[in-house]
Amino acid sequence: MTPTDSAPLPPPTREEAEDAVRTLLRWAGEDPRREGLHDTPSRVVRSYEEFFCGYAEDPVDLLTRTFSEVEDYDEMVLLRDIRFESHCEHHMVPIIGVAHVAYLPRKRVVGISKLARVVDAYAKRFQIQERLTAQIANTINDVLQPRGVGVVIEASHQCMTTRGVHRPGVSMVTSRMLGTFRSNSDTRREFLSILNRPGVTGGV
Ligand SMILES: [Zn+2]
Repeated sequence: MTPTDSAPLPPPTREEAEDAVRTLLRWAGEDPRREGLHDTPSRVVRSYEEFFCGYAEDPVDLLTRTFSEVEDYDEMVLLRDIRFESHCEHHMVPIIGVAHVAYLPRKRVVGISKLARVVDAYAKRFQIQERLTAQIANTINDVLQPRGVGVVIEASHQCMTTRGVHRPGVSMVTSRMLGTFRSNSDTRREFLSILNRPGVTGGV
């Protein structure tokens, strides 16, 4: 695709998507006509609808519709260990991990389930971990306009653990700190000490 050719491509039909799976089965050395593989293309295509349902979600809209104005709560809100499943956009294999999301409200708060849904809305897409981290933090920052936001993600990438360098057990940690989480080391330290991650200092 050339830079000028950026109009959205029309979505493929379900049949075209299933044919693409048959092509990859053949590429792997299989015969897609084998009995055990008969329903595989339709199963894979249905799985994709689940893995990538985030494209149909608008995380900004999700938070905009659900925040409530509060006058007097100004302590840190922290949701720890939000498990997520995403897919690496370079290899199309799973990234599995946890996100820790914190913010210092100015006036607006949301229910914790909404924070988890924002994580999912971005995770259920093709991603790189750095962008996933930044998107979650930026969206909370833009909509809730808090005094600060901190997001830390720890994840294992199957493109590292099952292929290429084969490093099982390795996890990648990314963080994005905005507002007081970036400017005030006490706030950042409080957040990271709750996570037992005092060594994380950077931001993406
Ligand atoms: Zn990868």
